[in-house]
Order: sequence, then C-alpha cells, then structure tokens
Amino acid sequence: MAKDIIAECMQLFGGYGYMVEYEIARRFRDIPVMAIYAGTNEIMKTIIAKNLGL
Ligand SMILES: Cc1cc2nc3c(=O)[nH]c(=O)nc-3n(C[C@H](O)[C@H](O)[C@H](O)COP(=O)(O)OP(=O)(O)OC[C@H]3O[C@@H](n4cnc5c(N)ncnc54)[C@H](O)[C@@H]3O)c2cc1C
Repeated sequence: MAKDIIAECMQLFGGYGYMVEYEIARRFRDIPVMAIYAGTNEIMKTIIAKNLGL
C-alpha cells in the first residue's frame, strides 16, 4: 500500500517529486526497503508456509 501511495505522490509532484531536495523523493527510495529488511517478503512467505505445514 505504501509503495502504491508513494508512486502516486511521485506522479502528482511530477519533476519536483524526483528531486532529492523534496521529501517525496526520499520516501520513494526509503519505502521499498520495508519489503527487504527484517526478512524479505519472499522469506516471510516461506516462514508463513512452513508454519502452516505447507
Ligand atoms: C536499511 C536496512 C537495515 C537493516 N538492518 C538490519 C539490522 O538491524 N539487523 C540485521 O541483522 N540485518 C539488517 N539488515 C539486513 C537485512 O535483514 C537483509 O538485507 C535482508 O535479510 C535480506 O538479505 P540480503 O540483503 O542478503 O538479500 P538476499 O538474501 O541476498 O536476497 C536477495 C533477493 O533474493 C530473495 N531470496 C533470497 N533467498 C530466497 C529464497 N530462499 N526464496 C525466495 N527468494 C529468496 C530475497 O527475497 C531477495 O529478493 C538491514 C538491511 C537494510 C537494507
């Protein structure tokens, strides 16, 4: 959801959203890491599947 929203924000801000001086650019870079640290999405799915006995 956060990825979808920040992509919309980037589009809304246009070129300003891409410039490092603007908060949108920082968020656009920082939000995707949530799917990486503390276990990537793929690894999380593997853990859930194991816990379900799959
Ligand atoms: C900002 C940031 C903060 C971090 N903070 C910490 C911290 O405080 N403490 C700490 O211990 N670590 C921390 N990390 C490390 C983080 O936990 C690892 O980056 C994360 O576990 C992914 O490991 P990796 O980067 O080696 O990617 P890899 O394991 O090399 O994975 C690369 C890609 O391959 C996929 N992949 C790998 N294995 C499988 C598999 N078996 N099945 C399917 N897909 C697979 C992954 O999902 C991923 O998409 C941090 C990382 C970042 C970016």
